Amino acid sequence: MLGPVILAASRSDQMRRFVSAAPGTKQVVSRFIAGETVDQVVPIVKDAAAKGLEVTLDVVGEDITTREQSYAARDAYLDLIAHLEDLGLGERAEMSVKLSMFGQALEGGHELALANVRPVVEAAAAIGTTVTLDAEDHTTLDSMFAIHEELRKDFPQTGCVIQAYLFRTEDDARRLAAAGSRVRIVKGAYKEPSSVAYQDKAEIDKAYVRITKILMEGDGYPMIGSHDPRLIAISQELARRAGRKLDEYEFQMLYGIRSEEHVRLAAEGHRMRVYTAYGTDWYGYFMRRLAEKPANLLFFGRSVITK
Ligand code: FAD
Repeated sequence: MLGPVILAASRSDQMRRFVSAAPGTKQVVSRFIAGETVDQVVPIVKDAAAKGLEVTLDVVGEDITTREQSYAARDAYLDLIAHLEDLGLGERAEMSVKLSMFGQALEGGHELALANVRPVVEAAAAIGTTVTLDAEDHTTLDSMFAIHEELRKDFPQTGCVIQAYLFRTEDDARRLAAAGSRVRIVKGAYKEPSSVAYQDKAEIDKAYVRITKILMEGDGYPMIGSHDPRLIAISQELARRAGRKLDEYEFQMLYGIRSEEHVRLAAEGHRMRVYTAYGTDWYGYFMRRLAEKPANLLFFGRSVITK
């Protein structure tokens, strides 16, 4: 029951101010956010590579209010790509972007987000890597899929995310499971109404399995974004039944969550990509992580009280 309350709080400016200023917050945030600057995240990328892991890097920030902020977001990704080029990690390090951070919700936002994300995708391709468009709340998805389709005309390796909790997603999966596509399937992290999304965990899990089956049986490259041991085992079995080799799909998990599992799956020969978020505007990302596991809230509460 706490999850939806925390997700509602993730949209509140008052809560944002309270949580950001609370003593002890930084310590808990650092479990999920790899650092504030690109320089702090570089050693983490190197360490992941040394352990045989891949990463997808996310510069946190969403719900921006000005065009200038959207340009700053674009520039932050361009700066990140310049650092990745120096590291020479190629496709071991790809990027995840939220189009809201690129201005999607502003006036003329669809065109603005496309104009901002295109140079990032171009620069990523120039150093041999790629970008995945994260899925945000359901009202943004038609625009996200249209931008994804547009980018794929020139950069077919551009990925996107689909969310199992939405009723629409099985249709999206069928459309996207075509040759050359890269699709991350996740359960979904936003507060969505019952008119568009399953609310029951078991229903979401069943949808996740149906959608993963569509992706595995299709011609694209499925990216299994989950920490759920049951869904990971089922995905492995679906891949086996679809005749996929280990390098024909990958697993993805979030930085700071079930880290031992990252290493275990990589050691089994799977491609394992760790979604690594960094930056200063971590509030929305952090609150979604709290909502996913309300026990995190207890940990957070305790660290605030004991500071
Ligand atoms: P759950 O049933 O939630 O979790 C399974 C187990 O994993 C839990 O029992 C617990 O042990 C552990 N766990 C899960 N979450 C946490 C946590 N926060 N803290 C501590 N332990 C935890 N959602 C979107 O809506 N759009 C996106 O673009 C998006 N991108 C993602 C990218 C990646 C790589 C991943 C892994 C997730 C992404 N998500 C995204 C979030 C996703 O929708 C889920 O909210 C999140 O993955 C939790 O679901 P789960 O599949 O891990 O299963």
